[in-house]
Amino acid sequence: MAKSEVTPMMEQYQKIKDQYPDAFLFYRLGDFYEMFNDDAIKGSQILELTLTNRNKSSKNPVPMCGVPHKSVQNYIDILVDQGYKVAICEQMEDPKLAKGMVKREVIQLVTPGTQFQTGSENAKENNYLTALYYNSDEGTYGFAYADLSTGELKVANLTSIDEIINEVVSLSSKETVVLGDNLPVKATETLTKLGILISKQELLPANSSTSYLSQDAEGDSARQVLSLLISYIETTQKRSLDHLKRAVMYEPSDFLEMDHNSQYNLELVRNIRTGKKQGTLLWLLDQTKTAMGGRTLKQWLERPLVNRGKIEQRQNIVGVLVEHFFERNQLQDELIKVYDLERLSGRVAFGSVNGRDMIQLKTSLMQVPKVRYILEQIADKNFDDLLRELVPLDNIVDLIDRAIADEPPISVTDGGVIKDGYDEQLDKYRDATNNAQRWLAELEAKEREVTGINNLKVGFNHVFGYYIEVTKTNLAKIPENRYQRKQTLANSERFSTPELKEKEAMILEAQEQSKNLEYKLFVEVRDQIKAAIKDIQRLADAIATTDVLQSFAAVSEEYRFIKPQLIDGHEVKIVDGRHPVVEKVLGHQQYVPNDVDLNEDTNVLLITGPNMSGKSTYMRQLALAVIMNQVGCFVPAKSAEMPIFDKIFTRIGAADDLISGQSTFMVEMKEADDAIENATPNSLILFDEIGRGTATYDGMALAQAIIEYVHNNIGAKTLFSTHYHELTALDQSLKQLKNVHVGATESNGELVFLHKIQMGPADKSYGIHVAKLAGLPKSLLGRASTILDNLQEDNENEVHGSANAMVENIEREPQSEEQISLFPLDQIDEKQADVISQLKKLD
Ligand code: ADP
Repeated sequence: MAKSEVTPMMEQYQKIKDQYPDAFLFYRLGDFYEMFNDDAIKGSQILELTLTNRNKSSKNPVPMCGVPHKSVQNYIDILVDQGYKVAICEQMEDPKLAKGMVKREVIQLVTPGTQFQTGSENAKENNYLTALYYNSDEGTYGFAYADLSTGELKVANLTSIDEIINEVVSLSSKETVVLGDNLPVKATETLTKLGILISKQELLPANSSTSYLSQDAEGDSARQVLSLLISYIETTQKRSLDHLKRAVMYEPSDFLEMDHNSQYNLELVRNIRTGKKQGTLLWLLDQTKTAMGGRTLKQWLERPLVNRGKIEQRQNIVGVLVEHFFERNQLQDELIKVYDLERLSGRVAFGSVNGRDMIQLKTSLMQVPKVRYILEQIADKNFDDLLRELVPLDNIVDLIDRAIADEPPISVTDGGVIKDGYDEQLDKYRDATNNAQRWLAELEAKEREVTGINNLKVGFNHVFGYYIEVTKTNLAKIPENRYQRKQTLANSERFSTPELKEKEAMILEAQEQSKNLEYKLFVEVRDQIKAAIKDIQRLADAIATTDVLQSFAAVSEEYRFIKPQLIDGHEVKIVDGRHPVVEKVLGHQQYVPNDVDLNEDTNVLLITGPNMSGKSTYMRQLALAVIMNQVGCFVPAKSAEMPIFDKIFTRIGAADDLISGQSTFMVEMKEADDAIENATPNSLILFDEIGRGTATYDGMALAQAIIEYVHNNIGAKTLFSTHYHELTALDQSLKQLKNVHVGATESNGELVFLHKIQMGPADKSYGIHVAKLAGLPKSLLGRASTILDNLQEDNENEVHGSANAMVENIEREPQSEEQISLFPLDQIDEKQADVISQLKKLD
């Protein structure tokens, strides 16, 4: 385009657009936000807008589309939900008053990680923006995350890409801030694979991050990454960050460690099939009454505790609340009236709070003394810590009560927000306006009398101001010298008088000043609340904690959970344990409870039994009990003695790794490796049918080697389900391994699953049994039985050089060096590898 053809407006547009090449630029033009050029072409498709052209008649028309400013938020949300960024460019001066081009500036860059989730469906979700800084000297990563709507801010030092994956996945982060090209390629690739938007940012020299660092934020990486995150927030938000809390330093080992696959497979917060909350542990446990409580519960489930004192503190409170049914109901009734204090204080900080928000704030704060009172009535020392935090903010309640109208309008600039009696000057303006109304009424009466026109009216409209209206039939009666014509209508004429004009100026002036003053007063109130944001946030935390604990108490009672006894050793003794979600779906009567007995003599349970008998349910049941215990909830059982586990490793469910796109078998091996590398005697390992993803003997050999390794070298409590019946012989050689199986029986020709865990290995011929029930021909079943018998016989008579010898070898000599060295794969010796490959070729 020739330079001369570029209009000044497009020149301004381009200048701004150049600063935001990777964002849609929403350029404010009057009542619309316009997009131009490529933004318009792409934006019109995504948002289903009509694409038009600016400067249609010129040689190079500019593609253009726009959205009305009133509904802009919807359009921004759609784009940002799809992973795009939107730069909002506003008019910075009144176009009527501007000389030349109206000044415009980007006032905010909305991105997936900084988007404010509005709407009730998001109330119980956080939106986390994360940041990563690679410390090349130490090969470690500084990691930080923030939720802009609630002000939460946390920092950690991470040591590996796996840890990064765990953090960003469990936070469901959509966007990560990195420092230029600081991140290693592998880390960048991983984030990209996870579908996370990577935003590059430079460190702002004078950013305020140091003030967010708490004293315990140690180390360069932590400081760098925090500074990076704050730089990005300042760059995109361009507004107050007063509600960001002080950064809290944490370490992954402060919590029960679980990788993202475990969280996913155990369906803690997300249903594997639907991706929704329904059918998850979160869904079962959530009887929270506030949005903050809902978010806190989710956070707790994603990060169960390992500190015994903290766990007991929560469980003790749950215990007290279980006992006090009446007070608990009262508590729920009060909590339900508490609005989202965290997000309200976010809006206060950002200056986007309106009168109605303030009323919500007041209503919420007014609940605090009531919540306090209920806890005080129960009078139990376990509430001491909570009560110390539940400090009513009477001054804020009082301020809002005095200042803000009970039912204020949404707009904060059009008046009607501030209460009568709050400010003397405002009352005077209002009096003046009210007096003026009276004066106008009196004027009407007076003019009717003087002119004798009975239907004479005094009125107002926005264009012409105040007027005296006289119908055409009465025009002869008006005093010509005093009445000045203003407007002619079909049936009447409108007039003003010098007296009316003067009053009009006064009224409009008073109204304008009144509005301005109201806004000023509103901002003052807002600033006073802003000064109390930290107190409000503390209160919000305490309310959230109270809410989650009452929720635990409510579900514990409803579903008959019991308080577990925490023990110092490694034993687990659960009597009549249940899987709470399966139980809820099936109904309490239908669910068959099962014991878990892992004692000093039993580290490994080898679980056999037919498909669909309940093996994996049994394993999940234990994992959920551990997690429920360590978030401070009660557990579904008749009684439970449990230690505090440091880590949970699982391989449950056949799902391929959705994130890395690896095959089931590869994931199995990786997870086995992860467990072997990282498990301690305080860990829980759950392996569901490991090894089935490869050839039988290969898989069996690996399964055995893994069991042996865990048994001999780690000593973690382990549940291992398998349908390699051969492995049940391991109880001969592995002292701390016990066989259990899930019982089944035949009734009226049908196989009935008892879902009951019983001692000893499962009966071998279930497969044939099932086949019989399925109606396969008798002769075929007979043949299968013969083959089975032969195989078993072969197993018992050592026949060297045959496939069975291999199995035998695995069964009978599990302790030998060679067997242990089967794992990892690259340590298989040549002879074994040869045998395995020959076995694979066999029909
Ligand atoms: P497996 O792992 O042995 O193939 P699952 O654990 O997946 O079997 O269980 C299969 C089904 O059996 C479950 O979906 C559930 O409906 C039912 N089930 C499992 N355990 C129990 C139980 N203890 N009581 C009642 N039903 C159960």
